[in-house]
Amino acid sequence: MGGGNAQKSKMAREKNLEKAKNAAKGSQLETNKKAMTIQVIFFFFALFCCLLLTFNSFKMQCKVCMQTFICTTSEVKCREHAEAKHPKSDVYACFPHLKK
Ligand SMILES: [Zn+2]
Repeated sequence: MGGGNAQKSKMAREKNLEKAKNAAKGSQLETNKKAMTIQVIFFFFALFCCLLLTFNSFKMQCKVCMQTFICTTSEVKCREHAEAKHPKSDVYACFPHLKK
């Protein structure tokens, strides 16, 4: 019967199509996984950069003697440093960030 053969080959074709679909799905999943990994890496990299930037912005440095101060150093301490170490210099010359 020709019809039976056609039916068989149709089924075979559908099976192959299914296989190809599944393979595509698998590779798609693989691609998604890779993309996700890259995203995660990128996310942590961005986070790290952010932290670094934040840390650097908190780190104060006297522009006159290049002494660094930890982020908890208050404005008062900066002024004290400027007055004690650089009485001839303006406090803003030491710590430009104090100028608002
Ligand atoms: Zn200084």
